[in-house]
Amino acid sequence: MSRGVVLVSGGAGYIGSHTVRMLVEEAGYQVVVIDNLVFGHRDAIVSEEVILVEADIGDADSVEEIFTTYNITGVIHFAAFCFVGESVTDPLKYYKNNTAAPLTLLHAMRKHGCDQFIFSSTCATYGAPQEMPMTERHSQQPINPYGWSKLMLEQILHDCDQAYGLRSVNLRYFNASGCSSDGLIGEDHDPETHLIPNILRAVRGEIGPLTVFGSDYPTADGTCIRDYVHVEDLARAHVSALNYLGEGGASVACNLGTGKGASVKEVIVAAQSVTGKPVPVEYGERREGDPPELVADCSFAKEVLGWEPKITDIEEIIKTAWAWMNGPGEGKYQE
Ligand code: UDP
Repeated sequence: MSRGVVLVSGGAGYIGSHTVRMLVEEAGYQVVVIDNLVFGHRDAIVSEEVILVEADIGDADSVEEIFTTYNITGVIHFAAFCFVGESVTDPLKYYKNNTAAPLTLLHAMRKHGCDQFIFSSTCATYGAPQEMPMTERHSQQPINPYGWSKLMLEQILHDCDQAYGLRSVNLRYFNASGCSSDGLIGEDHDPETHLIPNILRAVRGEIGPLTVFGSDYPTADGTCIRDYVHVEDLARAHVSALNYLGEGGASVACNLGTGKGASVKEVIVAAQSVTGKPVPVEYGERREGDPPELVADCSFAKEVLGWEPKITDIEEIIKTAWAWMNGPGEGKYQE
């Protein structure tokens, strides 16, 4: 029996596609995806029942048509640009796409009486870390337009709750990583900037040596520490958040991580163990805007959503990414 129709924006993207699959195959939801396929991949939507509307979320006519055609009970919003460096050089692109465009979704929700919104937010909304691990009560002072573009939407959602009773869950991801456990879908970004896929591509000889961005940080081994959380655990958190709002839950923000940090060097060592091959590495300058350490305190997500990550070992995460890269598509979608 269907549990309602969920509209997923950006459902053909990395985290979106894993969530769509879980919503349909495990949670019994009917799903409509809206994706302009600029970064998303048609092939990342593997469940046949999913309806894909190829359109931009800022296109009010397309959004209105979706809401008049389907009885949308909840929206999960992923569609966004996510390159921090680009957000610094072209902030308007980020404010337009990440902050302004979702207003179209919110207008349609208000008009059609849909009051449940799950937002793919980020730990970048906190800015420079003041305490570790970071709780949801950490101050929010982003240090780049990407973080601001997401934080502004959090504020808009807060105001929409106050004014219209439109409830939301802000899910603040730490470092999304890994691929589906069966290797069917995974991470295919262009350009790829993330650590784990770049390590694995370096191992496969597809790119030159991995550049470690900075080895003089005030951490035990001098490299940056991040909290890598498996993409299927993230997907499950969205399903939990939807169920939570469906049961009448109030608006909340939850960190999603594992609570465990791994340094760049530790990730490299883990990748060597998983692949059985040396990782070609060179040491470079620090990357601008990278704090030394980002680790989540995820106890609130457990308390309020009943969510806990199942995969907390970095080698386990890397194994799934390696499986995807050695699958039939070699870590790339055809379309
Ligand atoms: N990193 C690196 N070399 C790379 C890519 C990333 O040393 O080619 C480092 C980066 O400085 C950060 C960590 O790996 O400390 C994770 O970076 P990623 O881009 O995967 O995620 P972010 O933390 O920026 O969201």
